[in-house]
Amino acid sequence: MEFLPSLLQDLLQAHPHLRPQIYFKASLTALSHAMEDQVLGSQDDPLVIANFQKERYYRQETRRYRQLAQYSSQIYVLAAPETDFAQVQEPYETIAFHPDDPLAQEWHLVVLGTHYAACLVCRERLSDSPLMDQARRFEGIWTFDRVVSQTAARLLLQRILHYQPRLQEKVHQVLQRYELTAPATTNLPGIHPGPFVERLVTYLQSSQYKILKAYRALSDQERQQRLVNLITGAIRQTLNPEEIFPIAVQELGQTFHECRCILYRCRSHHASARIEYEYTAPGVPSLKGVDWPLSDNPLFGLAIGRDRAIGLNDVTTAPELRGHADLLKLLQQYRVRSWLMAPIIHQGMLMGMLELHYCGEKPYTWREVDLALVTAIANQVGLAVVQAQAYKSLEELNQQLAALDRTRTNLIAIIGHELRTPLSTIQVCLESLATEPGMPPAIRQEMLNAAMADAERLHKLIQDFLTLSRLESGRVQWQAEAITLSECVELALAQLRSHRQCLPQIQVELPADLPLLRTDGEGIVEVLVKLLDNACKFTGPEGRVTIRAQVIEGNMLEVVVADTGRGIEPSQLQAVFDRFYQEEEALRRTVGGTGLGLAICRQIVSGLGGQIWAESAGRGKGSKFHFTIPLGGRPDTPEPSQAQTQQTS
Ligand code: ADP
Repeated sequence: MEFLPSLLQDLLQAHPHLRPQIYFKASLTALSHAMEDQVLGSQDDPLVIANFQKERYYRQETRRYRQLAQYSSQIYVLAAPETDFAQVQEPYETIAFHPDDPLAQEWHLVVLGTHYAACLVCRERLSDSPLMDQARRFEGIWTFDRVVSQTAARLLLQRILHYQPRLQEKVHQVLQRYELTAPATTNLPGIHPGPFVERLVTYLQSSQYKILKAYRALSDQERQQRLVNLITGAIRQTLNPEEIFPIAVQELGQTFHECRCILYRCRSHHASARIEYEYTAPGVPSLKGVDWPLSDNPLFGLAIGRDRAIGLNDVTTAPELRGHADLLKLLQQYRVRSWLMAPIIHQGMLMGMLELHYCGEKPYTWREVDLALVTAIANQVGLAVVQAQAYKSLEELNQQLAALDRTRTNLIAIIGHELRTPLSTIQVCLESLATEPGMPPAIRQEMLNAAMADAERLHKLIQDFLTLSRLESGRVQWQAEAITLSECVELALAQLRSHRQCLPQIQVELPADLPLLRTDGEGIVEVLVKLLDNACKFTGPEGRVTIRAQVIEGNMLEVVVADTGRGIEPSQLQAVFDRFYQEEEALRRTVGGTGLGLAICRQIVSGLGGQIWAESAGRGKGSKFHFTIPLGGRPDTPEPSQAQTQQTS
């Protein structure tokens, strides 16, 4: 099909003096609405011809045109159909044109009354951002000139007849009435600009208002995004809540005037919480360190059931706080006038609370955007808490893995060193004794001593292995007997002296009135031997080892073996009780040992119903090993008559 040329082109040809201008969509909308409003209230049945380009643009104005139809029977609406525009029934004429017609690129509005005339004929310019409606631009004519408006009306009516020949009669009448049959040369008056300008100003004002509203929404969004980014950035830099939380309260608090922002950790069942993190605007009293009521706090009750912030605009009149005189007094004391709470939640569990207190004279009305902002920050803080916890668990896991790895390495080293070395010594000694019958008796004796010492070392290692595995399997039956701690200490010291020569000074400082014990004596002796052996091993002969004891909590005996030796790093105080734990690698050890002694002690002590732990201020500061045992024995420890076997070594 052949299309007529652009209407703008036709108009410019008819009136070569016209100079097209550029208009933004918003300006054309305002101008069109102002022109249409001239029709409202008119008595003279004016002619209105509007081309909306596409059906979708016309749809936004349907209501308006139905209203205009009450004031004129001469309304013609043109658009390229997208749905059912070709068939619509309206109280005015609708003319669907072909989507490829140049009319689809043009915006036209002609209003012709007896006393006024205006026309707008513009062509859309191709835009760089076709998706942005507000960025659309047009080029063309807008004028009150009656002659130009008449030409535009005539040209448009010709187009209308082209598409809707059935309107021949109606269009003919219009052409007659407005003297449009010949090129226009009328002297009829143009539009009176007064009311038109007023309308236009109203439209421009309302567009301005809309732009301002959009700008405010954008800047609120930007503020929220900036804060969230800032806190996310802090979380990325550190996983330490101690660094993240102060930033969160400070940044959030600073976005409000005369306010306090607080953050504390809590669970939903907590009665109160100590305020840990706070930001206060100048002059606002501090709440840091204060115990903040939770269980008797209706706002807290309301906040924990939600995943969004909740606010009270005026605490003095809020019905939620009625009858809570103490709380109101507290709020007054700290000048809380408007109150907002946002729960910090992870996987449905309350982890803490973020609060905003407006402390001005007059109450503050929390806006939807304030609630959204505080909720977003609370969510970020929740994330930080969870990440920090996950990181801590990971670190603990890492430490456990490192300890496990050390244990494994030690086990291999011990097997390699503790088993193989004595074996090869024994082998070498025995071979020499067998092959060299002429060996001098002194050397022969030395060889025999070395072989026997290493055989003893092997024996001890195997014995410790077996003891520990028996203890760990839970097959040991403890045998309760009446015994004093001094007897146990004496037996232990005797054993120690039998296999260790160069001992440090050992002081026994037991109170004379220690009660009789009812426990497995051999177990206690075993523990004492191992603790004393370690104390002597890691303390030079110039040092001192002390044994003390006291009754605690009325029914427990606490024994302490203290030394002035090499000490233990505080981070290792628990690990020393692990199997095969040794501070140095087995091969670099200067003192013998299996790394099983303390693991055996822990098994025995817990088997007897007590606890064992180590204390040390660190390297070179000596160590203290404490263990407790019930004075009356474990409730399930059998009496001697009932005991079957007793195996602790
Ligand atoms: P070991 O046979 O190697 O002494 P233990 O289980 O008895 O094995 O002790 C494990 C480790 O704990 C020792 O290797 C040592 O590093 C540390 N330890 C134990 N007692 C003391 C102590 N009194 N002073 C310093 N370190 C000690």
